[in-house]
Amino acid sequence: MVDHWDDRGVNHPEQVGYTTVLAIPRDMEIAGYKTKFTNTLRLWDAKSPVPVDMTYYSRGEYLKAVEQQAMAEVIAKVLYPDDNHYEGKSLRLKQQYFFVSATIQSIVRKHRAQYGTLRNFHEKHVIQINDTHPTLVIPELMRILLDVEGYSWNDAWNIVTHTVAYTNHTVLAEALERWPQGLIESLLPRIWQILKEIAARYQRKLEQHFNGDMNKVSKMAIIWNGEVRMANLCVCACYAVNGVSALHTEILKKDVFHDAYTMHPEQFHNVTNGVDHRRWLSQINPKLDALVRECTGGDDYLLHPETIRGLEKYKDDQSVLAQLEAIKKENKRRFAAYVARESGVQLNTDAIFDVQVKRLHEYKRQLLNVLHIIHLYNQLRDNPNMDFTPQTFLFGAKAAPGYHVAKKIIQLINSLSAQISADPLCKDKLQVVFLENYRVSLAEKLMPASEISEQISTAGKEASGTGNMKFMMNGALTIGTLDGANVEMHQQLGDENIFLFGLTADQVVRMKAEGYIPADYYNHNPAIKRVLDQIRAGFGDGVDYSDLVDRLLRGAGGSPADEYMLLADFDSYCQAHRRALETYADRKRWNQMSLINIARSGIFAADRSIRDYASDIWHVPTRL
Ligand SMILES: *Cc1c(COP(=O)(O)O)cnc(C)c1O
Repeated sequence: MVDHWDDRGVNHPEQVGYTTVLAIPRDMEIAGYKTKFTNTLRLWDAKSPVPVDMTYYSRGEYLKAVEQQAMAEVIAKVLYPDDNHYEGKSLRLKQQYFFVSATIQSIVRKHRAQYGTLRNFHEKHVIQINDTHPTLVIPELMRILLDVEGYSWNDAWNIVTHTVAYTNHTVLAEALERWPQGLIESLLPRIWQILKEIAARYQRKLEQHFNGDMNKVSKMAIIWNGEVRMANLCVCACYAVNGVSALHTEILKKDVFHDAYTMHPEQFHNVTNGVDHRRWLSQINPKLDALVRECTGGDDYLLHPETIRGLEKYKDDQSVLAQLEAIKKENKRRFAAYVARESGVQLNTDAIFDVQVKRLHEYKRQLLNVLHIIHLYNQLRDNPNMDFTPQTFLFGAKAAPGYHVAKKIIQLINSLSAQISADPLCKDKLQVVFLENYRVSLAEKLMPASEISEQISTAGKEASGTGNMKFMMNGALTIGTLDGANVEMHQQLGDENIFLFGLTADQVVRMKAEGYIPADYYNHNPAIKRVLDQIRAGFGDGVDYSDLVDRLLRGAGGSPADEYMLLADFDSYCQAHRRALETYADRKRWNQMSLINIARSGIFAADRSIRDYASDIWHVPTRL
């Protein structure tokens, strides 16, 4: 609870009856590339200040004796594995507050030591709220300025709102954090008081601005229906809000935060994500790195990624194109050797490597990839002697522990994989492999060996994607929807260097509004009907997948039938695959497209992304 004590007429709130947890800094040095600067990444460990309770210990109650320690230390033990989904777990709230409080106290202490005051705090710091997870930094910094420094509300609010900026990472409603107010109230009573005041002032501002239009006010409110909405708190308090691709930022402005955008359009920015060419090309693909250096005259591209464009001069150079093809082939062999060593599975390196690796989520549509593979398999069964380009489909994905449907889709991929590998008809033609434990170290091995990059999310749902960029700079060609940063990839590449398919984000919205009936596709498209009937019948291993089919045709658990519009995009997706295979048969054209993809990947450099933050949001100068 919060006590108040009076200091010569000034009211001082103070929380009492709390648990103390010690935050132990664990600093990591982050070395830059060809710079004399080194940054410090400060990580935190949680420790209990309470010693082992010897009264319990001497009674032989050992667990009880160390309970206090265990309770404190569990706070920093787990990284929550949910992706694009929110779970209101109390330990997670504790963890967020612990990390936020330790970090801001550390920054404040250092600032005070240097300047002797926090009055100029916002002139020296930007706190970039990366997704809503650290949002509690807003009331926590308010608490320090109000309760420790004794500043007025307006002075404190002015400092906070000139310090914090917010990066949104998703438009999926189920991923936006909303904490039950009772949880915050009981765990963080002083923070709750501050949140209530922020929310009340914001709501008065909204009611005034929107002339009491409660439809708008209720959507934008910070506290509503017994919940604290962290994204709305960020939009209220942050001097800058950004999305992570051009399309995503447009959707934030047009839809997710539309009313806030009309109030303060200048608050909204786009900073398209990027990945590091030093890691995702040079380090993981040394042979391609050597070719890029040879063609562009050195390693300049590692500091100035846009200079990788110089590669494009060689798009008609038979020798360079042949080298590119040889590098890919060698990388495929290396990766196949690794997979054979790790799992015993033999990948067919004469087949095209078609890869979908990313977290498992329905909106990413791994299931659409599966539907297409079954459709291919059916063609092969109908006509075993058909002209068939050998294809190896590789999947890698982790599912959140509580995401049932995601796990079922992984199981389906494994069932299909087993059936296909047991069918002599598919030998040297069709292969499906689910790579276990997908992680950065596996991605680093896989990207250089990939030929087709599957970026097939329902348009409007993927904020940016970064996997798409890693594939591109390693010369894989994209089969993708106009979603996230794919849109900007397409702008760079033109229609002729990417295999686009499917509905656009606008068409998805329109089609849903007009009443999307997936059963119509089942009833009128024999290929779709056949594939779905096969999944319903199963793969002879006793696993029943009819629940997945029902989700597409009928909907389940409150979600509408085929929420992510797989059936609407199925035909278009199959056509994109056919175009890709036709192109693959023309080796010169394929290698040329691959080279152009690498050459035009400079815009997706992490350095460009960070420079955008520095110039548009942090307003700090950059070297280079
Ligand atoms: C890059 C990367 C991601 C992000 O992939 P998307 O396709 O953009 O979702 C996820 N997991 C790992 C291990 C990665 O390396």
